Amino acid sequence: MAWFRNLIHISGLKSSVKVNPRNMSFTTALSHFSTLPSPPSATAHNYYSGLGPTKPDERPRVVVLGSGWAACRFMKGLDTSLYDIVCVSPRNHMVFTPLLASTCVGTLEFRSVAEPIGRIQPAVRCETVTDGVNTITPWKFDIAYDKLVIALGAEASTFGIHGVKENAIFLREVHHAVEIRRKLLLNLMLSDVPGISEDEKRRLLHCVVVGGGPTGVEFSGELSDFIMRDVRQRYAHVKDYIHVTLIEANEILSSFDDRLRRYATSQLTKSGVRLVRGVVKDVKSQKIVLNDGTEVPYGLLVWSTGVGPSPFVRSLEVPKSPGGR
Ligand SMILES: Cc1cc2nc3c(=O)[nH]c(=O)nc-3n(C[C@H](O)[C@H](O)[C@H](O)COP(=O)(O)OP(=O)(O)OC[C@H]3O[C@@H](n4cnc5c(N)ncnc54)[C@H](O)[C@@H]3O)c2cc1C
Repeated sequence: MAWFRNLIHISGLKSSVKVNPRNMSFTTALSHFSTLPSPPSATAHNYYSGLGPTKPDERPRVVVLGSGWAACRFMKGLDTSLYDIVCVSPRNHMVFTPLLASTCVGTLEFRSVAEPIGRIQPAVRCETVTDGVNTITPWKFDIAYDKLVIALGAEASTFGIHGVKENAIFLREVHHAVEIRRKLLLNLMLSDVPGISEDEKRRLLHCVVVGGGPTGVEFSGELSDFIMRDVRQRYAHVKDYIHVTLIEANEILSSFDDRLRRYATSQLTKSGVRLVRGVVKDVKSQKIVLNDGTEVPYGLLVWSTGVGPSPFVRSLEVPKSPGGR
């Protein structure tokens, strides 16, 4: 994600929110949506140097960081005749996360779960400010704000476990779902290559989900439905090889009540998901190592062990919830 390396610098010119300047060049930024008219001939540089402090006769500028649930709900309700909105986010759309798991297996198309910001708040115009998705040069610019709204959500937790970021796929964004679907279909095709060993076939078709929270459970369920309904018909040759394993350190859905937990466990088991109690210690490119030394070969690994604050949010000197968000 080279574009993620672009940098922006939000300058708190009129606000009292305290931001540590050393941490301000957070990795982000690529899309900027503004109700401000942009001169058609202006270069990107001229345009952004125009986002200085607002003048007394101008609408106050509300800078919104993030384009997720909170940010979009907020922008939708804002009166754009009173405020100028500038939204800064790595993505120009909102993701309808509850349906994301269904897109991994083709039950829903990706575009069904992504809503452009311009449709959520029609008065906001979108401007792409990245100078190319492949750029590796950080690009800094300042945006002055009268009010700053921080709605950056959270980041997937890996607990510093070696190899997670390199080998596992998270399930938080549309591009994650695209990657999961691509890998799943690729492995189905690879497993049919003549001469492939039985062990390799089993590995390729072993889908492992780590984390038994709502996302992990929902995704495991979607995956096993897909296997039962589609894969077994269309790829009959793999029906005895493809499996879903859900690894959880404690109990699945631990924040839900006992009855629901038991129901989910029985439904998952019925649909062929193997539930494994274990703690992942290391993630290698084709296998996971558990705390007790067990090695679990996999073809697809989805990591869903909860979320925590991003480094940028951690760096802010503002009151936070107990989880640091
Ligand atoms: C697969 C899945 C299923 C879910 N299902 C449900 C459900 O059924 N019910 C439910 O209540 N909740 C569900 N959730 C949780 C729900 O999605 C979150 O609680 C919600 O998204 C939080 O909203 P938010 O606005 O705080 O953060 P998000 O929606 O995550 O938005 C954060 C925004 O900040 C942007 N951003 C991140 N870093 C930066 C940066 N440095 N600079 C600028 N912008 C940045 C992101 O691109 C994003 O636009 C689910 C989550 C997932 C992943």
